[in-house]
Amino acid sequence: MLEKTFQSLGTLNHIRIFDSDDERILYKAQARVAEINDRMSAFKSDSDIGRLNANSGKSPVAVSQDTFRVLEQAVDFSEVSHGAFDCTVRPLVELWGIGKKLNFIPTAAEVAKAKSKIGYKDIVLDPKKSTALLRHHGQAMDLGGIAKGFAADETRRVLIENGVKSAIINLGGNIIALGKRPDGQSWRIGIQNPVKQTGRHIAVLCLEDKTIVTSASNERFFIKDGVRYHHLIDPRTGYPADTSLLSVTIVCENSMHADALSTALFVMGKSQCEPLLSAYRALAVFIEEDLTCSFSNKLRKNENEEIVVL
Ligand code: ADP
Ligand code: MG
Repeated sequence: MLEKTFQSLGTLNHIRIFDSDDERILYKAQARVAEINDRMSAFKSDSDIGRLNANSGKSPVAVSQDTFRVLEQAVDFSEVSHGAFDCTVRPLVELWGIGKKLNFIPTAAEVAKAKSKIGYKDIVLDPKKSTALLRHHGQAMDLGGIAKGFAADETRRVLIENGVKSAIINLGGNIIALGKRPDGQSWRIGIQNPVKQTGRHIAVLCLEDKTIVTSASNERFFIKDGVRYHHLIDPRTGYPADTSLLSVTIVCENSMHADALSTALFVMGKSQCEPLLSAYRALAVFIEEDLTCSFSNKLRKNENEEIVVL
């Protein structure tokens, strides 16, 4: 087995390959993730997104094919979720600073001001020139809810192109279980218990050749006066999504879809999920505040209490 752990995309990434001992594959995969990070990080002033944000309200910016693709998808998801997912959410993400500022709650006026800058309809994409523009000064993009999924899909592509058939890719929780386990069995992928420390599972998925992506309110959060303030912002209110969900896990083929869907559906809430899930042929596992676990009807539990795809 080959394995590699590395920092990129603002998180810890882990790749395990079970059917090759060619270390160069790991380096190629890591380089591809680093390239995507260099293009899409909102924290780098010379990334596509850094330059796009610095030029909002001014002039279109030429971006790489990678970034253009992700921007197109991000706009699509913003549309189909009616703004529950909104890739221009950055001013609110920055204001709240969940995980960065310590237990900070902005005033209603601050929230209103940041919220007034949000709007995916202000993204102007020109596919011929591969340029992007945010119409108004102060607007800013955030691909944090979708870029890891794209990077996971690209990692899988690198592995497959190099003959790998059995691997686990984990980019900060965006998982792709490629092929089958080396013993020919399905992979077992745990869904983290949202109120226990890392490594404790509340459910186990048993599957092959799928991506598994979770959005949860237990990673970057604080609780004040009984309210859970977390990093999944509802762009329509300007506040952390007010939902009875602790986590949404998406299972499907395409990790970029799964990433955007997990963020969108967490914000939208369980009752609104079915149309989007069927549009993307995705399945979901929901964990509620009282730790009840429910799932889409194409998933069921087997005799070992594992959740399997029908
Ligand atoms: P994580 O990146 O923590 O695994 P997600 O994929 O759900 O989880 O992405 C969360 C990130 O997406 C946030 O840190 C923020 O950068 C961005 N984000 C937060 N709320 C939204 C939203 N409503 N729409 C789009 N992106 C969002
Ligand atoms: Mg996501």
